[in-house]
Amino acid sequence: MAVKRTLDLTDLLARAASSLRLGDRVGALPNVESERTRNLRGRVSGAKAVTSVCPYCAVGCSTLAYVSDAGKLLDVEGNPESPVSGGHLCPKGSAIFGLTVNEARWTTVKYRAPGSRRWEDKPLDWALDRIAERFKETRERTFVRSKDGKRVNHTLGIASLGGATFGVEENYLLQKLLKSCGVVSVENQARI
Ligand code: SF4
Repeated sequence: MAVKRTLDLTDLLARAASSLRLGDRVGALPNVESERTRNLRGRVSGAKAVTSVCPYCAVGCSTLAYVSDAGKLLDVEGNPESPVSGGHLCPKGSAIFGLTVNEARWTTVKYRAPGSRRWEDKPLDWALDRIAERFKETRERTFVRSKDGKRVNHTLGIASLGGATFGVEENYLLQKLLKSCGVVSVENQARI
């Protein structure tokens, strides 16, 4: 009668771990390699890797932004140490470099004056000043100190809708700024 053989997986694994690695067993000669191949360098070779966060959604995948000595962004990749993504980026996150370094990127603000049919290009600083002026004017006009005999110190005339490009630090600062001004309608878009 044939005896059925059994395998001791624990023993097999222990022997595999102690044996030679694949690279030690395959090929007796060095790999064929041209001078050109030997001198090739990766596009981020020698660049400084700065840890950052994908700007798109609330998953918050960590990234490595590779920067040259001159401070130029060379590439952005997933960070293998990211606890939420392990170095992977979805198609949007994979396009972060193109979002940042792109000749077609808008560098001005589009503004249409009240009643106008024409859009104008305005500098970013101009837009920030306009927002600050309007914020102050609206807050002063709508600020309520007390309601129904209770102190409320708030304004319902301003609301804030954030974007997923905000990181933790930016959101912290935004909350501090808005709450200290009495704004209670604060929303930061994406969350999972
Ligand atoms: S957009 Fe994609 S890569 Fe970026 S945080 Fe979200 S899931 Fe991660």
